Amino acid sequence: MSAEGAVKAIVAVVAKCEEGVEYETDVGAACPECGDMLATTTTRTIQDGLRERYHKCTCALCIVRMLGLSIKSIEKVE
Ligand SMILES: [Zn+2]
Repeated sequence: MSAEGAVKAIVAVVAKCEEGVEYETDVGAACPECGDMLATTTTRTIQDGLRERYHKCTCALCIVRMLGLSIKSIEKVE
């Protein structure tokens, strides 16, 4: 991979993590890159029926973990 290609790939991963994933109440949130279940680092209070959480990927081979990125998740709370 060229340096430019690597940078583009990293930017795409960062964007996915910032955009966030859905948090399923029974299951949790999955990494947008490798699909592993994520460890929760921060849980926010419910606002307007939504709860935000922040997660880390713990998969040893995942670029999200290598970059030390936090992944946002959104849970819809009835
Ligand atoms: Zn991952």
